[in-house]
Amino acid sequence: MKPAAFRYAAPRTVEETVDLLERHGDEAKVLAGGQSLGPLLNLRLATPSVVVDVNGVGGLAPAPADGGGSITLGAMTRQRDAERSPVVAAGCPLMRDALPFVAHRTIRNRGTVGGSLTHADPAAELPAVAVAVDAELIAVSRGGTRVVAAADFFLGYFTTALAPEELLTAVRLPKPAPRTGSAWQEFAPRHGDFAIVGVAATVRLADDGTVASAGLVYSGIADVPRRLAEAEAVLVGQPATERAFAAAAAAAAAAAGDPPSDLLASADYRRHLVEVLTVRALHRAADRAEES
Ligand SMILES: Cc1cc2nc3c(=O)[nH]c(=O)nc-3n(C[C@H](O)[C@H](O)[C@H](O)COP(=O)(O)OP(=O)(O)OC[C@H]3O[C@@H](n4cnc5c(N)ncnc54)[C@H](O)[C@@H]3O)c2cc1C
Repeated sequence: MKPAAFRYAAPRTVEETVDLLERHGDEAKVLAGGQSLGPLLNLRLATPSVVVDVNGVGGLAPAPADGGGSITLGAMTRQRDAERSPVVAAGCPLMRDALPFVAHRTIRNRGTVGGSLTHADPAAELPAVAVAVDAELIAVSRGGTRVVAAADFFLGYFTTALAPEELLTAVRLPKPAPRTGSAWQEFAPRHGDFAIVGVAATVRLADDGTVASAGLVYSGIADVPRRLAEAEAVLVGQPATERAFAAAAAAAAAAAGDPPSDLLASADYRRHLVEVLTVRALHRAADRAEES
């Protein structure tokens, strides 16, 4: 199938882009890497009257920058560039861990970090990572700039807090505290497929080796990346042992509630994956916290 007819605009600046978005509102769609929008257009699941191609807009893909307590990635940073960036590896090792699971390398060559976040597929890796690390998303419109916490950004299936006239320009990722380790684990039918369930785990160890704080955020179990605070709480104050990880994993499976049941997996199977993947991710995150 071919897309429905649309007008094509190729602005060169953020100002021109937000003018276009303001003028066309809901009728406009931003084109970033095109890896999700392209299929949506071809299948006529999206029928915008204007496609605003931001690939030529200056300033949206500067090299990942280390700002001291956080790193900043431009929205148009290609997923593959983020994967290979030493700034990302050092400043957000969890994102570095998750990126190789995003589709295939050829797709990551075009797909952007901002595109994945704004597309807001609940099965995607980067939205869960953004929530797990308390990322901040920078949105620009003609009215100015606003900063949205990742926890407030994802509102539902393919739905974000971004207004039609807003352009995501960057994402700020706080660096992990000392003695913190993180890990991404997922299960997908084949490498490169969207995962059935994924988990972003972080573990911060106290000086005595107990867990000072923990983060557990899941993809694939709800309409948005889902933090399971009940399972995080089980770990705090406990020694970082198999027993504590198993208890947290059981709490996570219980707290996952009623995840979706579809052709890929039943709700029961998703709960099972939550339990298995949580243990694996916590082991790896705790080992990395020890080594850091
Ligand atoms: C075969 C295949 C397998 C895939 N597997 C995975 C996977 O396993 N995990 C995964 O996470 N993803 C997967 N993807 C999706 C891929 O990661 C896409 O790159 C990503 O979802 C969208 O990024 P993009 O830059 O291509 O955005 P586009 O497709 O260009 O845009 C996606 C949406 O975001 C909006 N948008 C993009 N950038 C901005 C911006 N700066 N401001 C405002 N709105 C914006 C667009 O208007 C559009 O609605 C897969 C894709 C394919 C084709």
